[in-house]
Amino acid sequence: MATVSDTSNLNTEYEAVVVGAGPAGVTCVGNLLERKVAPILWVDHDFNGGRVNSKYREVPSNTKAALFIDFATAVAPFRKIVSGTPSRSRWEEPSGSDGVSTDDKPDKLQSLRQLDPQKGCELSYAADMIMMLTEGLKKTPGVTAVRGNVSDAQLFGLTEQWNVNVQGHKKSADPAEAFSATTERLILCTGSSPTDTPLPGNTKDIPHFDLDDALSPSKMSARLSGLGPTTISVIGASHSAILVLRNLYNLASSIKPDLKIRWLTRHELRYAEFMNGWILRDNTGLKGEVAVWAKEHLEPENFKKSDVSKYIDAITYEKGKDEATFEKHLPGSDFVVQAIGYQRNATPTLTTTDGKSITPYYNHKTGGFEYDSGSKTDRTKLPGMYGAGIAWPERVTDPHGNVEYAVGFFKFMKYIKRVSPEWN
Ligand SMILES: Cc1cc2nc3c(=O)[nH]c(=O)nc-3n(C[C@H](O)[C@H](O)[C@H](O)COP(=O)(O)OP(=O)(O)OC[C@H]3O[C@@H](n4cnc5c(N)ncnc54)[C@H](O)[C@@H]3O)c2cc1C
Repeated sequence: MATVSDTSNLNTEYEAVVVGAGPAGVTCVGNLLERKVAPILWVDHDFNGGRVNSKYREVPSNTKAALFIDFATAVAPFRKIVSGTPSRSRWEEPSGSDGVSTDDKPDKLQSLRQLDPQKGCELSYAADMIMMLTEGLKKTPGVTAVRGNVSDAQLFGLTEQWNVNVQGHKKSADPAEAFSATTERLILCTGSSPTDTPLPGNTKDIPHFDLDDALSPSKMSARLSGLGPTTISVIGASHSAILVLRNLYNLASSIKPDLKIRWLTRHELRYAEFMNGWILRDNTGLKGEVAVWAKEHLEPENFKKSDVSKYIDAITYEKGKDEATFEKHLPGSDFVVQAIGYQRNATPTLTTTDGKSITPYYNHKTGGFEYDSGSKTDRTKLPGMYGAGIAWPERVTDPHGNVEYAVGFFKFMKYIKRVSPEWN
C-alpha cells in the first residue's frame, strides 16, 4: 500500500476518491467497482476497519450474524474476495441464495457461517470480515489505497471536478509528504465519534471516562480494577449506555465490589419491536442481548429485586433539567461516562478554486450534498460530492411516520446500492 511518503508513482486523476475505510468506505469501494467506476483512490488514516475494529471488537452486535454474511456477499467484487469466484448473492436471487460460493472450496466467511445466523455475535466477527474485504479491495485492480488524511478539497466550477489534498496523518509513522489528485466523485465515509460535551458548573472538573473504553470490558477493567473505591456516573439510556452499565455491573459483581454506579437517564428504556413485516425503533431501540439484559434488570418492576441494584443507583430526570440534575447528582463521582450519541468527525475543508468556503448540506435520500453557491437564493447540488456511513446515513420513515437514520453495515449496503448508480 502506498503511504504519503511514497506517492511519486501515483496517478493524479481518478474516477472517484473515497475517504475512509470503515464499513461505509468498504461498501462504497465495492459498489463503485461493481459499476466499473475506476480508477479509485482510497484514503484512510490507517486502513484498520474503522471504529468497529479499532474500538468495538468486544461489543455484542445489535444485528444478526446473517446480515454480516449478506453484507460480505452483496456485490461481485466482495464475492470475488470472499470465495475467489464471483458467485451469485441473494441480491440476484431474492428467493433464497445465501451467497455461499458456487465451488466446493470453503469461502473466507467460515467463522461467521459457524454462528447462529439468526442471533447477534461479538462485533469482532464483523470487524474481521471488514478487514478481510479491506485487504482484498486494496489488492483489486483499479484501487489505489493510500494511508493519509484528506485535509481539504477544492471544487473547479467549470469542470465540476475536485482537487483533493492528502497529507500525512498525525497518528501515522509516515512523514507528511502531501500530494493532490483530481476526481469527478469525492465520497466521504468519514465516520462519527462519541459526543462528549463539557459538563456544567460544579461538575466540570470530574474526569470524563471515554465511552469507547467503557464499551470495552477489558479496557474498563484495566483502567478501574486497580483503583480503590470508585464511583462512576453514566449518562444516557441508549444501546451504548446500557452496554456500559452492563460492563460496569459485570466488573462490580466479579472483581470490583467497591464500584458504585450512578445511572442518570431522562427517559424510559425504548426497545426495537417486531411489527407486521417491519421493526419499530429499528435504529434507535434496544435490541438483542442488550435488550434482554435491560428488561431483566433495569425495568422498574425488576430493578429492585435484581442484583444490579446493589451497585447501580438509578436517577431519572425530566428533559430540560439536565444541568440541575448533573449539579445535584454528579459531584462525588470519580468519572463520568457520557453515552448521549455520536457526532460526525471533522470533514475535509471544502472551498471553490477562488477560495470561497463551501458548507455542505447532506441529502439523506440521494447520498449527495447541496450548498449555497451564491448564484441563487436556493441551495444547489454540490457537484460530485457524496457521503455514506454513520456520519452520512439514509433517513427512513416507518409506517407509523417515525423518522430515523439507518445506521448499520447492511443498511449502508442497501442504501448505497440504491443511490450510487446516480453518482455520476
Ligand atoms: C457501539 C456501536 C455498536 C454498533 N453495532 C453495530 C452492529 O451490531 N451492527 C451494525 O451493522 N452496525 C453497528 N454499528 C453501526 C455502524 O455499523 C458502525 O458505527 C460503523 O463502524 C460505521 O462505519 P463508518 O465507515 O461510517 O465509520 P467509521 O467506522 O468510523 O470509519 C471512518 C473511517 O474514516 C477515516 N477517516 C475519517 N476522516 C478521514 C480523513 N479526513 N482522511 C482519511 N481518513 C479519514 C477514519 O480513520 C475511519 O477509519 C454500531 C455502532 C456503534 C457506535
